[in-house]
Amino acid sequence: MPPAADIAHAAALIRAGRLVAFPTETVYGLGANALDAAAVERIFTSKGRPRSSPLIVHVDSVEMARTLAATWPDAATTLAARYWPGPLTLVLPKTARIPDIVTAGLATVALRMPAHPLALALIRAAGVPIAAPSANRFTELSPTSAEHVAPSLADYVLDGGPARVGIESTVLSLVEAPVLLRPGVIPLPEIEALIGPVRIATAPGTEDAQAPHASPGMHPRHYRPATPLYLFGPGEPPPAGRGARLRIGREMPADPLAYAAALYDTLHRLDAQHLDWIAVERPPETPEWAGVLDRLRRAAGDRP
Ligand code: AMP
Ligand code: MG
Repeated sequence: MPPAADIAHAAALIRAGRLVAFPTETVYGLGANALDAAAVERIFTSKGRPRSSPLIVHVDSVEMARTLAATWPDAATTLAARYWPGPLTLVLPKTARIPDIVTAGLATVALRMPAHPLALALIRAAGVPIAAPSANRFTELSPTSAEHVAPSLADYVLDGGPARVGIESTVLSLVEAPVLLRPGVIPLPEIEALIGPVRIATAPGTEDAQAPHASPGMHPRHYRPATPLYLFGPGEPPPAGRGARLRIGREMPADPLAYAAALYDTLHRLDAQHLDWIAVERPPETPEWAGVLDRLRRAAGDRP
């Protein structure tokens, strides 16, 4: 844990409209004051992120979340009580406090209370909600440690060690009937046991996709390493050339949570070796593996 002075410094930068990269339990975020349109603008410029991709707003409490959401259904109360602080993002109708640039003009806002103590300390010290996508350039791999964050992206980087969860949050819309917009490490049946049936959103480009950016995490080029990545099934031989094979329970953990925690760090490390390919054993299609499988499919360039 960095000294309190580092957090105070980072919080002062946030209040001054600057960018701070900070740890969360999912991945490192590139944060700005969510109530300051000019500050949020800098996030898009720094990342090279299209302005059509809305950002998640990070809060330090349910109370802060409720000041930003125009409605707060019972399902939000139930899910926040169970999962916050934690890797669940809730999409709700927004209030006018949230500038349009944060939500890419959508009338809804994505809200999450992160579990990393430094993230919570930063939001508390800044006294404002913090809009933050992952602290990487658009389409590059998400950072899961301070070392993965390019120093040029932010005015300051807070180091909180390796991210415990390791893949991005589960994103759930509660705007109408519940819709899963992006799987994470929380198995869907666990959420359904609390709030009833949840529809799974289909990717843009397919029939059912309504707004093209209902979920920007669905951008097909998200989460991709520079090295070509393939998914392989049992018994499939490796491609020609120099590469690395990642088998479940061998090079990678057998447990889905441990696998998620190791995934991006492993891909960052392998990317640095300039291999011809990374061949990843396809995980099973079970709710526990849904988040990892989703990121691997995107990394492979497949439609999820
Ligand atoms: P990332 O691009 O990895 O930072 O992820 C941002 C995530 O936030 C996306 O996957 C979206 O699902 C989600 N998101 C943010 N704002 C909204 C919104 N207003 N409506 C739906 N999803 C949103
Ligand atoms: Mg990202």
